[in-house]
Amino acid sequence: MKKVIDILLPWALIAFFLMILLLLYNQMNGNYVDRGEDAPVPEHLHPVVEENKNILLEQAADIGIDVVITDGTRSIERQNELYAQGRTADGVIVTHAEGGESYHNYGLAIDYALRNDEGEIIWDITYDGNDNGERDWFEVADIAKELGFEWGGDWESFTDYPHLQMDFGLSIAQLQRGLRPDPEGEQEEAHE
Ligand SMILES: [Zn+2]
Repeated sequence: MKKVIDILLPWALIAFFLMILLLLYNQMNGNYVDRGEDAPVPEHLHPVVEENKNILLEQAADIGIDVVITDGTRSIERQNELYAQGRTADGVIVTHAEGGESYHNYGLAIDYALRNDEGEIIWDITYDGNDNGERDWFEVADIAKELGFEWGGDWESFTDYPHLQMDFGLSIAQLQRGLRPDPEGEQEEAHE
């Protein structure tokens, strides 16, 4: 009996070691880190999202569009309040995501609006303030998509015109399980 263990144990150790290596390799390749079930949700935008948000503001300003970021990272509590709106609370339905189900909860999404010539924040997707014959709202969306954002205006089931997100290849289910994009990582998704 002892002999069998003597033979098997080194192999078991080698197999275990290889599994760990494979796991680490996948994590590096997948560009995410596993923070575990109790992983806290971030309070700030992911640095890559933050950086591209600022580029978006600059590039829009360059063509005469004043973009306002109306929302970024959202707490779970705030998300639940929004979800209640139009359901158990007054107002119209603005989201289909409960707390923990939105990319906003993980610092991976922003919402935008426009500021018109009078300085008012508007959600008019037909507004053409820079007078180039194109709707400003869609020009902003085009810039954002070039930068690697996914635009909620392209969604068919719940079109969300102000919404921009970067998912780093992670689903909401994975984020809920504690997977997080590598803080140093680049947005891997190819531009559409
Ligand atoms: Zn949003």
